[in-house]
Amino acid sequence: MTTVRFLNGLSTIGGNIMEIATETSRVIMDFGMTENSEETDVRTLIAQHSLPALNELFQDNQKHAFQHEAIFISHLHLDHTAALAYLRSNIPVYISHESYRLYQNLAGSGLAMPLGINLHAFEYDHTIQIGDLSVTGFASDHDAFGAAALLVSDGHHSFGHSGDVRLHGPHLERVHNWINAFRAAHLDLFMLEGTSFSFEPKQNLEFSEPVSEDDVQRTFRQLIQNDERLLVINPYPRNLERLLRFNQTANAYNRPVVWELPYARLLSSFYPEALIHVQETERLNKQDFAMLIPVSMSTIQHEPERFCLQNSYADLQVLSRCPKFLYLHSNGEPLGNYDPRYMKLQEFLAQHHAEYQYLGSSGHATRNALIAIAKNVNAQTTGIWHSFHPEAAVAAMSELDTHLFLPNYDEIYSF
Ligand SMILES: [Zn+2]
Repeated sequence: MTTVRFLNGLSTIGGNIMEIATETSRVIMDFGMTENSEETDVRTLIAQHSLPALNELFQDNQKHAFQHEAIFISHLHLDHTAALAYLRSNIPVYISHESYRLYQNLAGSGLAMPLGINLHAFEYDHTIQIGDLSVTGFASDHDAFGAAALLVSDGHHSFGHSGDVRLHGPHLERVHNWINAFRAAHLDLFMLEGTSFSFEPKQNLEFSEPVSEDDVQRTFRQLIQNDERLLVINPYPRNLERLLRFNQTANAYNRPVVWELPYARLLSSFYPEALIHVQETERLNKQDFAMLIPVSMSTIQHEPERFCLQNSYADLQVLSRCPKFLYLHSNGEPLGNYDPRYMKLQEFLAQHHAEYQYLGSSGHATRNALIAIAKNVNAQTTGIWHSFHPEAAVAAMSELDTHLFLPNYDEIYSF
């Protein structure tokens, strides 16, 4: 018998964690948290449902309940990984090989804390055996580099996890590939993210008429050509491909992006052939000078029409020395209203008479796209989570030929 248990994230965006277990083996899928809590006590965090109720993984020298176990992570967003920082067990943690490289480079360039966990990489489309469970990760499309969908089988039953996914991104063929694999596996249970059902489509156009990564670059190109103000961009480093595209677009129009050092190093380690400009700082070392093109802030101040400037929230004060600028928010932190830093950002921009423009693209599929995914995967049962309103998704999918399912927290489902 195989059991499935849901440990978090049933009506939140992110923090969704499920466990699939046999008598001897278990696979845990995703290990995120939804909020940054000041609280560090594991018991309290578990009681608050911030951490999954897996006490044995958060304390030293606990007995292993399973002979074989592993955690698989769909992608490197904090709402899918943050609980890893609390792990005390040496349980193997698998991420895609692309995510693994991203993690190494983020940690190496100071953009992420090293986790000190038993980390492994999986190749796409290759099956890994965890005792009597087999796990296959498939490349997917989301606004995080290396995102994957996960398929688990016990030899008789199959379980799929969509991870976070979109159909309006640059890697649609990847999504089709895993949808076909899931369909061929005749899933007993398919867990699908339902982010776009969290919001009324009219209030959040991004989820009804999505902007693609191509659209982002098109708008950026127009601004580069027509706007003389300094163009400031704030992208999220884990969307590595967008960083590269900003760099390419800006170089093509001879108005390069000048990156903060950690971002420049990250880009350079993935794309050593790219022409990468970096803000001049004493921290540049010999290798940086070999790989990167330093530009001083005074040059940028004098000729804002010749440059774009990448700025992360931590370095916001740099902008107080800049001439008139246009602030292009491209899904970098702080992401939105729910983060208190977002108000501070807006206040800062108002003080400096800077215009704010959103220049992002969502990593989440529209409602119609989610319905299409559920239809094509055609699982016996489709569960919706990773949404404030999973019940809205269930209502919208009621015509589909699949049993729709809203799991309960900590209940054990047997297959
Ligand atoms: Zn997520």
